[in-house]
Amino acid sequence: MTRPWNFSAGPSALPLEVLEQAAREMTDWQGSGMSVMEMSHRGKHFTRIRDEAVADLRELLSIPEDFEILFMQGGATAENAIVPLNLIGRRGTGKADYVLSGSWSNKSYKEAQRYGDVAVAGSSGEAVVLEDRQQSPWTWFPAPDTWKLRADAAYLHFCANETIGGVEFMDWPDMAALGAADVPLVVDASSNFLSRPIDFSKVGMVYAGAQKNAGPAGVTIVVVRKDLIGHALPVCPSAFDYANVAEAGSMFNTPPTYAIYIAGLVFKWLKRQGGIPAIEAENIRKAEALYGFLDTSDFYQSTVHPSVRSRMNVPFFLKNESLNAEFLAQAESRGLLQLKGHKSVGGMRASIYNAVPFEGVQALISFLQEFERQHG
Ligand SMILES: *Cc1c(COP(=O)(O)O)cnc(C)c1O
Repeated sequence: MTRPWNFSAGPSALPLEVLEQAAREMTDWQGSGMSVMEMSHRGKHFTRIRDEAVADLRELLSIPEDFEILFMQGGATAENAIVPLNLIGRRGTGKADYVLSGSWSNKSYKEAQRYGDVAVAGSSGEAVVLEDRQQSPWTWFPAPDTWKLRADAAYLHFCANETIGGVEFMDWPDMAALGAADVPLVVDASSNFLSRPIDFSKVGMVYAGAQKNAGPAGVTIVVVRKDLIGHALPVCPSAFDYANVAEAGSMFNTPPTYAIYIAGLVFKWLKRQGGIPAIEAENIRKAEALYGFLDTSDFYQSTVHPSVRSRMNVPFFLKNESLNAEFLAQAESRGLLQLKGHKSVGGMRASIYNAVPFEGVQALISFLQEFERQHG
């Protein structure tokens, strides 16, 4: 039996091996006589599941010991408030700077404005000509050397991968070189977390809702440098204060136990694949194949600037948009699911996260070729 290929942007495909293991363990987790859903979060079984998930994640991304790994709830959307609630007061200035590169970073910026003096450090919200290419708004990324930084800001926030626009930024700057050595980077990496390495010497905090590339919906992964913890505003809800969550080992209140368990299985699956270097190589191979095909075709087009094309989310357009509905119907009948682009961008979007193998990308490319032959 072959499963369809799932190109959803999130919640998205999980590795089949992980789903099968979860199915085997559904009613009796490793001889405990219980489903993971039925266990006390403070009991020995779940404590082990939590501890292994933290240790495996630390190993996978080489997360230094001076960073806490927290499992929280509320998704990346809640972090848009939880981040300023925890960090914006840490230097007494109440300032934070935001780089705007698409839908998600704009949402983060808007939410943060409720908590302090929040400014735009850079924005790709206008059309530009970049290396002879005409770029429409939100299809490029503002270069760090153009950012307007405030050296007394509590942090600088950006989104590493705009899931909707398909813009991925990985040349994370050294803030000292930009004259803002005391301004830590805070990164929303929801949709490219675990797809490539992260240089933690450059960041103060990285967070990710799990349901794109790391697990199911319900758990948010927060990796935060210890010296940034403990400065929450008095109005910060106790359950969202990083100090409380860290102190309690992500059990200040009942954590999303099943989601943490599945994320933990994904971490073990990643280790079996050869870890982050191996999965990154595979992600590069997949992205090169798909963009490579789109670039040679006159029938489809990709509009994101090549320097920041996302390896995870690939928006593309049929030049003849009247064929969109037929394209999607045929794709679905061929077992290629959830290719419709986000309503704010239109067109198509193929999300090719870790759990979508090269074979799935090849199946997509074959279909793209065939559809072009029929209608080109
Ligand atoms: C999906 C997503 C979010 C929002 O996640 P929720 O879990 O729905 O809150 C935020 N940022 C990015 C980059 C995302 O991909």
